[in-house]
This record gives sequence, C-alpha cells and structure tokens, in this order.
Amino acid sequence: MNKNYDAVIVGAGYIGCAVAYYLSKAGLKTALVEQGEVAAGASRANYGNIQVQDTELEYSLPMILKGYQECMQIEEELDCSVNLRKLGSLLIIENSKQWEIMSTRQEKLVAAGIRAELVPAKHLNEIEPMINANEALGALYHPFEAQIFPFELMWAYIHRAEEHGLELLTNTEVTDFCIQNSRLTGVKTSQGEIDAGSVVLTTGAWTRKLGQKIGKNWEVYHVHGQSLVTEPIDYTFKNHFSSAAFFEDIQEETTVGESAVLAIAQAWHGNMLLGEASFPSEEPENYPTPGAPWAISTQFERFFPKFKNLRVLRGWAAPVAYTPDSLPYLGTVADLPGLILATAFRSTVIVTPLTGKTVTQLITTEKTDLDISRFSPDRKIIS
Ligand SMILES: Cc1cc2nc3c(=O)[nH]c(=O)nc-3n(C[C@H](O)[C@H](O)[C@H](O)COP(=O)(O)OP(=O)(O)OC[C@H]3O[C@@H](n4cnc5c(N)ncnc54)[C@H](O)[C@@H]3O)c2cc1C
Repeated sequence: MNKNYDAVIVGAGYIGCAVAYYLSKAGLKTALVEQGEVAAGASRANYGNIQVQDTELEYSLPMILKGYQECMQIEEELDCSVNLRKLGSLLIIENSKQWEIMSTRQEKLVAAGIRAELVPAKHLNEIEPMINANEALGALYHPFEAQIFPFELMWAYIHRAEEHGLELLTNTEVTDFCIQNSRLTGVKTSQGEIDAGSVVLTTGAWTRKLGQKIGKNWEVYHVHGQSLVTEPIDYTFKNHFSSAAFFEDIQEETTVGESAVLAIAQAWHGNMLLGEASFPSEEPENYPTPGAPWAISTQFERFFPKFKNLRVLRGWAAPVAYTPDSLPYLGTVADLPGLILATAFRSTVIVTPLTGKTVTQLITTEKTDLDISRFSPDRKIIS
C-alpha cells in the first residue's frame, strides 16, 4: 500500500466517524484507518445517550451546550434516521454527600441554561413510575436529554462520507508515525505507509501507547467498562438512569470488576442495557470479569424489582478512555505540525458532531468556533 491523502483519521469510533464525515464533506481526500472493524473500541459498548455527564463543568459546559444543539440537527445533517429520540435522565442520589454534589452541579447547570431539577424521593415516581424510590434520597433530573442508536449513527457518518470519497481501511493498525523535517507526513500501518497532510488521532484508550512512539506522555487512561443486555420488555421507560456515585471523587473499590454503579438505559427494541461494572485497567481489553453480571443485576433489581425476572441475553466489556482532569485532548500538537488529537471525552455522544466540525475547522482554517485552548494535548495535567 502506498497511498496519499489530505487527512488520515486513526480510529473508527464515534469521534473518528464524525471527523471522517465532516472532512470528506469539506472536500478533503480522507481515509479512516481502523485496527479492527468499525466501532471496535468503547463505541461498540455504549447506550447512545446524549447526556450531560461531564464532571468538570467550568470548561466543558460551552462544549456540551453547543454539542447538544448539533445533536438535535443530526438527522437533518445526515438525511437519515439514527433513531434520535428525546428522553429524560435521572442521576440517582443515595446519600447526603451525593445530594450535596448534585445540588452544586444543578446550580451550575441551571446558570448555564441547562434544565436540571433536584427531585426528592417522594416525587420520583411522578417522573418514572417504575423506579423503586425507597432505594434513593432523590435524583438530579434532566428532562431534555436524548438517545440515538450508536451503530446507525456511526455507519450513517461513514456512508455519507463515502459519498464524498472517504476510504475506510479496516483491519489496518497504525504502528508508528512518519516524520520529516519535524513535521508529520503520514503513518506507518500494518498494511504499509500512508502519506497525509494531517493525521487525526481518535484512538481512545490506545492513544497513550501511540503517543509513546513519538515521545509523548499523553495522560489518557481507561476503565474497563462492563454491561449486560436483557430480553426486550413491553414497557417504555421515560428516562435513562445513572448513579450520582459517578461524580464522587473516590468510588469504593471492591475486588476488581465485582462491584457496579447504576447505569441503565432502554435500547431501541425494548431491551434493557444494564451497567456498569468498571475499574481502571492497564491494557485495552474486552474480557468479562466473573463477578460483574451479579453486581450489575443486583443494582438493577434494587431499583427496578418489577423486572427482576428478565433474562440476560449477553454481556460485553470495552475500554473507555479518560484523562485525570476530565477534559478531552482536542487540538494540535505544538512541536509536531500535522498532528491533531480528538479523544477522551467524558460525554462522547453529545459532542460527536461538534467534534467532527471542530477538527474540520482546525484543519481547513486553523481556527475553531469552539474555544479549545483548555483541551490542548500539550497541557500539563495536575491531578
Ligand atoms: C457500558 C457503557 C455505556 C456507555 N454509554 C454511553 C452513553 O450512553 N453516552 C456516552 O456519551 N458515552 C457512553 N459511554 C462511553 C462511550 O462509549 C465512549 O466515551 C465512546 O465510545 C468513545 O468513543 P471514541 O470514538 O472516542 O473512542 P473508541 O470508540 O474507543 O474508538 C477508538 C478506536 O480507535 C481504534 N484504534 C486505536 N488504536 C489504533 C491504531 N493504532 N490503529 C488503528 N486503529 C486504532 C480502536 O480500535 C477503536 O475503534 C459508555 C461506555 C460504556 C462502557
């Protein structure tokens, strides 16, 4: 293989697919290179929730606000359905510390123009009739979140991008970078070298390892996230559900992969997606841990006892990237012109179209509407 492109994107998850679409649409000769199949990383594991779950709010709020607006236009932009549907979310509060954290959060969100209400337990069933409110102190309620079908969105981006000339190269691992005169000129892959004017890393949990090839110590770590899917039910939930425990600094660790924090959504055909047993891990892997199904279903049964006899169809695990300061890496790399990172978002789906547009602006105009200065890959993270 000896190919030449204006831009090469490494990693075909949500972010890579969106970047590929916007770059191709802008007329750039673009390739999307993926070591496995499309959605081989965290993007195959998730619920598709367009959610406001960033823990750092000072710098991420403008991105979330713009991101939400972009998401609401997604079907018009792509001229097809991605099963976009509006629904609410409940961040379940179980103790007074979580109530305090959610209360502070609610004030900041409302000040930024995001609807968020603190709901005491006695009113929870007005919002979600099937939840067992006896297990909670209350919840932080977002009435205006939404959900898409992950695979429809990623494939819609790819199909539309292919109409603009995108080349999708799956089962092609990027193994190193080509550098000439201190400028990135392309990538080395398991199928040969590819020349490119710009290279965009949307590589999630694999980013740290790739950076080490060029002496970078990008602080992208990952958790090994596990969840289950049940048979479909003949009832439609009005919300998706997470625990306020996700926002606590210290989550209690039991044996690795044997405890779970509530994260539940209903999928498009009525199946319940149940999670999440997660723990920090060294290598990006997809193995299940023995205690995870029990831990996850115990959480589900506590809050939704009416559905405790549901049969589980299967489970999965995937590496979900994060940074210690909870901000993404989004921007250019100062000493290596031609290289851009767009990875480790805390709430990925909500920023997917916006990130595709932002990276495209960066490559085509060297400017972005969104202020991305705080997301620089060159920043020093103090944890
Ligand atoms: C159970 C669960 C539920 C979730 N639900 C939600 C949700 O509802 N909403 C939400 O916003 N987030 C959710 N998440 C988090 C979400 O899944 C991730 O944040 C998101 O998928 C990250 O997407 P990405 O495109 O950045 O990275 P990834 O999907 O991880 O993509 C990175 C890609 O890069 C490829 N790659 C890496 N290195 C190389 C290389 N050297 N060469 C070629 N290819 C390479 C990988 O194979 C991979 O396909 C959930 C996570 C879990 C575990």
